[in-house]
Amino acid sequence: MNAVVAPTSRRVARVVRGQPTSDGAGVKLTRVIGQRDLDTLDPFLMLDEFRSDSASDYIGGFPDHPHRGFETVTYMLAGRMRHGDNQGNSGLLTPGSVQWMTAGRGIVHSEMPEQENGLMWGFQLWVNLPAKDKMTAPRYQDIAPERIPETDPAPGVHARVLAGTIGEVTGPVSGIAVEPAYFDITLQPGARFSAPVAAGHNAFVYVYAGSVDIGPTDTARGLTRGELAVLEQGGVDVLLSARAEPVRLILVAGKPLGEPVAKYGPFVMNTQEQIVQAIRDYQSGRF
Ligand code: FE
Repeated sequence: MNAVVAPTSRRVARVVRGQPTSDGAGVKLTRVIGQRDLDTLDPFLMLDEFRSDSASDYIGGFPDHPHRGFETVTYMLAGRMRHGDNQGNSGLLTPGSVQWMTAGRGIVHSEMPEQENGLMWGFQLWVNLPAKDKMTAPRYQDIAPERIPETDPAPGVHARVLAGTIGEVTGPVSGIAVEPAYFDITLQPGARFSAPVAAGHNAFVYVYAGSVDIGPTDTARGLTRGELAVLEQGGVDVLLSARAEPVRLILVAGKPLGEPVAKYGPFVMNTQEQIVQAIRDYQSGRF
């Protein structure tokens, strides 16, 4: 019937489940990208989901720590996180907000819970910078919930557009090298949506509530909460089909850089020499 559309629709290449771990000062989280089963998905270096209503799992937060050579993207679903850095920037991340931080040549910052009880839930994504931008000046895009546009692109489908475009709706995050898309999508039971994915970009779907079928009907893969689908290359959309319950997921895409990655903790450069320099610069207070 729909011979024109079907071949452009992406299929699932593989499904990965996150690994429980902890980071910062003992914050419990689930690492989905940046772990044994999915080391990296160019340009994405890491994806963590943090979700707990037990304060002991998150109260330690992420005290002062450096970053160089990439971007950290924090998207809050619930709870409040206080952000501050060594250049005097600070802000409060509230539910539904996103912070796109381009660390560039270096910052030292902290990310601490601004609550002593209740649910803390969200994601942190690490996005690589191209070699030419790794030493750029740090930049913040702190985006309040009300500045993130929402759209209902199909019956029973609701999307928040953090970055990229769905139909006529474009997200507020701008000027990012990998031209990212970052959609937070809710589908009601039985709803279907063909979500746009830019040609040539690497893309993943992570399901954080409910379950969903991903890909053309004949080859669709089922995913449940806590699973990530790496999408195959070769199409400009991906078909999402809800089952008998509502499903919530993030769909993220970006242009692969295809450059060498030298990674050491919070420093992500292209060569080992640059890593050594980053450690030296940090230790001598040049961030
Ligand atoms: Fe950080």
